[in-house]
Amino acid sequence: MADPAILIIGAGPAGLTAGIYASRAGHETMIMERELVGGQVAKTALVENYPGFSRPVEAMNLVQEMAEQARRFGCQLVTAEVQGFAIEQSPASGIAVMTTTGRIVPRALIIATGTTPRRLGVAGEERFVGRGVSYCAICDGPLFRDKEVAVVGGGDSALEEADYLTRFCSRVFLIHRRDEFRAAKTVVDRVKQNEKITFLLSRVVTGIDGQTRLEKLDVKDLKTGKTDVLPVAGLFIYVGLLPNTGFCKEIIERDEAGFIKTDPEMRTNVPGIFAAGDVRQKRVRQIATAVGDGAIAGMMAHEYLQTIR
Ligand SMILES: Cc1cc2nc3c(=O)[nH]c(=O)nc-3n(C[C@H](O)[C@H](O)[C@H](O)COP(=O)(O)OP(=O)(O)OC[C@H]3O[C@@H](n4cnc5c(N)ncnc54)[C@H](O)[C@@H]3O)c2cc1C
Repeated sequence: MADPAILIIGAGPAGLTAGIYASRAGHETMIMERELVGGQVAKTALVENYPGFSRPVEAMNLVQEMAEQARRFGCQLVTAEVQGFAIEQSPASGIAVMTTTGRIVPRALIIATGTTPRRLGVAGEERFVGRGVSYCAICDGPLFRDKEVAVVGGGDSALEEADYLTRFCSRVFLIHRRDEFRAAKTVVDRVKQNEKITFLLSRVVTGIDGQTRLEKLDVKDLKTGKTDVLPVAGLFIYVGLLPNTGFCKEIIERDEAGFIKTDPEMRTNVPGIFAAGDVRQKRVRQIATAVGDGAIAGMMAHEYLQTIR
């Protein structure tokens, strides 16, 4: 495969938008994705806060349209994982990117690799991943039809996904370590009206157990100190995000949590390398902010290539 002028790592909303802008500006652009086109969005069901849609939009349709739009401008989407990269003599002479399908040398790079769900860190969690423990309600929810499950977390994702799971599950226990939720008020109000959801507040999961599949959780009440056993067939965990930046940590400047530091124009510490979307150090991680970052990164990569001609 010929080396593109601009390589974008990650086909979530940030990468796809960067692809639209970079290819529309006339550059040979490639987006490399290791898993699902659409990123985290492809793992959720409905989106109700993305501008331009007065009613909730199917998440998958939204990202498929973004991908189609990028392809229409000539952007190439390939499946492979980026494992690392090195700067040739100078950034202007190219960036040697190592991928699972070989080495390519673009002249500008946009890192849009997003995040991975944080583990809960409780005994039994790793053992039951794929056997009751999940980080993706849209992927695994239908497997728990007519079963009782639990969701852990207190942000938008936890509440939205608990609500979604009630389409299949007979009961959803929402376990949160505080009395208050971080989620938006409209989401909290909607979830509170869902009779299939039982709130277990000021409680934490301290154990995950079963024979071959998850069967029960130990749930500790932080106010009384008492631990109860909660029999459930599934546990969906939404307790935060870890940036996918392991492959670039030697070269790209990151914050203590591993998120990439950029300026407002999405420039990293290395000329010609930009970062966009959830992988970046910022406060609001949403589709709308990811596409904003992607648009800026695409245009800034274009501007950068003009300067090194
Ligand atoms: C359950 C859930 C529900 C959500 N609901 C909403 C919502 O309703 N509204 C909203 O605005 N936001 C929502 N969000 C947040 C939204 O999904 C993210 O803000 C958005 O997807 C960020 O886009 P991104 O392109 O930065 O990263 P991501 O969507 O995370 O995409 C990054 C992509 O990079 C790929 N990648 C990572 N490393 C590599 C590598 N080394 N090589 C190749 N590819 C790589 C990943 O596979 C992934 O596809 C939700 C998130 C979750 C988890």
